Amino acid sequence: MRQKIVAGNWKMNTTAEEGQKLASEIINMVKDEVNTNVQVVLSAPFTHLQSVSKLVGGSKNVGVAAQNVSEHESGAYTGEISVSMLKSVGVQWVIIGHSERREYFNETHEQLAKKVDAALKGDLTPIFCCGEPLEIREKDQHEAHVQQQLKDSLFHLSEEQIRKVVIAYEPVWAIGTGKTASSQQAQDMHKTIRQQIASKWGEGVANDIRILYGGSMKPDNAKELMDQPDVDGGLVGGASLKSRDFMGIIKSA
Ligand code: PEP
Repeated sequence: MRQKIVAGNWKMNTTAEEGQKLASEIINMVKDEVNTNVQVVLSAPFTHLQSVSKLVGGSKNVGVAAQNVSEHESGAYTGEISVSMLKSVGVQWVIIGHSERREYFNETHEQLAKKVDAALKGDLTPIFCCGEPLEIREKDQHEAHVQQQLKDSLFHLSEEQIRKVVIAYEPVWAIGTGKTASSQQAQDMHKTIRQQIASKWGEGVANDIRILYGGSMKPDNAKELMDQPDVDGGLVGGASLKSRDFMGIIKSA
């Protein structure tokens, strides 16, 4: 049985104070109200990671993620943040290849592959995002598009390495738009991804790897999505900024 993961991506939202309040509310609610074995991840802005890590403390069920990381170890890369910097403030997870990073910051497949390598080398768990834009879905090329994204940035990994990666399928047309993929659309793509992993690394890996759905997940659609056999949780943007909404999703997992 794969452990479910619910990861909140705060994006570029909240001041330090607001972030601490949000994290405290979620941590307390998880402690008081969640008795299932769900992994919660808080993906806060870089400036809040240290304080959020401190609030999380040694919690087994709540972890902290960065929203990006440099592929370089150190050096003259002004404005960048390295894996070891993240580790030094208690971060255990990192989102890599979010569609906003691909689109607005021109992150390439090659660069994403290097970021995955850097994260794994430094013992950070990558949450690797993939997903098709609307025009690709309309042309019915969404499966090939996502398969290519995985091939380009993950297929160089060994079995031991891929086992440490979490994949997030996020159809671009569903992110922040209020349009959610239907549970059938999500299940179909997650199954395709799992089959692709099976044909590259074998059934054992495919059965163990976690594949999250992301795209306008809300308390009222989370259960149906996460009840699908190949959907192992959610990567949640907007709804992760309200502790009650985020809790509603966590409880659906
Ligand atoms: C995201 O940014 O990863 C995301 C899924 O956003 P939203 O839930 O707001 O669609």
